[in-house]
Amino acid sequence: MNVGLRIDVDTWRGTRFGTPTLCDILARHGIRGTFYFSVGPDNMGRHLWRLLRPAFLWKMLRTRAGSLYGWDIILRGTFWPGPEIGRGLAPQIRAVADAGHEVGLHAWDHHKWQAAIDTMTAAQLHQEIKKGYNRLSDILGHPPATSAAPGWRCNEQTLLEKAEFNFTYNSDCRGRHIFMPVVNGVRLNQPQVPVTMPTYDETVGQNGFTNDNYNDYMLKQLRPEGLNVLTIHAEAEGNVCREMFEDYLKRAKAMGARFMPLEDLLKMLPEPPEDRIIMREIPGREGWVAWQDPVFSAA
Ligand SMILES: [Zn+2]
Repeated sequence: MNVGLRIDVDTWRGTRFGTPTLCDILARHGIRGTFYFSVGPDNMGRHLWRLLRPAFLWKMLRTRAGSLYGWDIILRGTFWPGPEIGRGLAPQIRAVADAGHEVGLHAWDHHKWQAAIDTMTAAQLHQEIKKGYNRLSDILGHPPATSAAPGWRCNEQTLLEKAEFNFTYNSDCRGRHIFMPVVNGVRLNQPQVPVTMPTYDETVGQNGFTNDNYNDYMLKQLRPEGLNVLTIHAEAEGNVCREMFEDYLKRAKAMGARFMPLEDLLKMLPEPPEDRIIMREIPGREGWVAWQDPVFSAA
């Protein structure tokens, strides 16, 4: 049973402390994954405050956001501009690539992308991708082969803009199988590797889910027959959830799971079918996220 492992790194703190912790855990288990880095300013504190309305306050309390993200993250970018992650932490990002993991682009400014994608023009979307693409290329010494839109906030214009860069594939949405995205009837040549499982922050703290039964639930999400793509966050599984995550790896491996970077999943499927993306709200997450269109794939 193959399981794509995707690690999103949203913040300075996640890059500085979460990624080395996760690299250690993955090395212990002989696992390679795909890390997606945010390389511009860390304004995630601003993001958290913007969402500080009752539903989100409740979520912060139930997921213990203070300990999950760190209060310095919650305040970062609120009263002063956030530091540029790629400028200050390039050695940490290179170390992940040197450890044998696949490294891709998550964002230039994660907060800005999540908050403003609905109103950004094509040129602005292009500019955001370009800034991150160029910075990550400088850090790695070569362009990244893959990207993943922050918070699964990806519209059709984003797909069109990404097609102008040299990405081999992208992971911008939730869904069930690898597909070639179609926009306005035109098939793009960058396949999508969708995420198939929910994330920690979408799950724990509601419907009876706690740290005690989270791994049981996540093990049940594994499907021997279908595509499995798991997203973890350097800020969560690389920090307060690290022991729980290592326990999950052990139990999943005992069930026959083989973890791998997303590029390896793609290599096993030479001709993905076509599909579209749609926008849909999901429980536990603010606003819409991109989904593989279930109607289109059924047609
Ligand atoms: Zn992210």
